Amino acid sequence: MARQLPIAPEPNRLLKVWRRVLERRLRTRLRAKVAVEIHDNTHTMLTFQRQRALWRLRLHHMFLAAPDEVVQALAGFVRNGDPDASVLLDRYIERNRAYIRRLSPAQMRKRIRLEPEGQHHDLERIFARLNERYFDSRIDAAITYGPAPRVKGPRKSIKMGSYSADSKVIRIHPALDQPMVPRYFVEWIVFHEMLHHVYRTRRGEDGRRCIHPPELMEHEKRFHDYSRAQAWEKENLDLLLRARVSG
Ligand SMILES: [Zn+2]
Repeated sequence: MARQLPIAPEPNRLLKVWRRVLERRLRTRLRAKVAVEIHDNTHTMLTFQRQRALWRLRLHHMFLAAPDEVVQALAGFVRNGDPDASVLLDRYIERNRAYIRRLSPAQMRKRIRLEPEGQHHDLERIFARLNERYFDSRIDAAITYGPAPRVKGPRKSIKMGSYSADSKVIRIHPALDQPMVPRYFVEWIVFHEMLHHVYRTRRGEDGRRCIHPPELMEHEKRFHDYSRAQAWEKENLDLLLRARVSG
């Protein structure tokens, strides 16, 4: 017996359908499996990563009904960072600005549980001291240990920190909260993320997004333990990669 359909489709159901359609459109162009997640972010409109044969894309909902040329550009950008595609995508985002929700960083931050304390390294304290020493306490970002990313099997790389311009929140990988990780190393990672607050991502001359502009890299060298921290990372990356982190 056929199930009776609701008179008006629920928004969530519609969203699911549109998302599937978009996945299919991308799959045809990428000739690979595609999983799309839709969000309502206010700064980062698209991110992606490759997991073996699967492309994972996180997209703002403005992409749900994107015209073919935009879906084509998405595929090109994801596949090989095509700069022309990137410019086209930027234009599309610009034209659809009206769909981007306006939320203040403070409002965004309220939705995030901040856990800066840790067992061994208190991020709040590290942040406050760096802020005072290097930035006249002018950086109004928040800091927390991030959730451990779910990675099966041995890790090949580790993202030790990140900065969200949406919420002005710095996230530090919980693997750094270990007694064998020296304070100066954690400080260096926090300092680096603070610089992301100062130097926003911009477009380089080749059209590619530049998240580490030369000014940032230059500024980073002012960190008091710069070479020591770099040396420690070189020596101990394996230790960090193997770290078992819960939560
Ligand atoms: Zn960085």
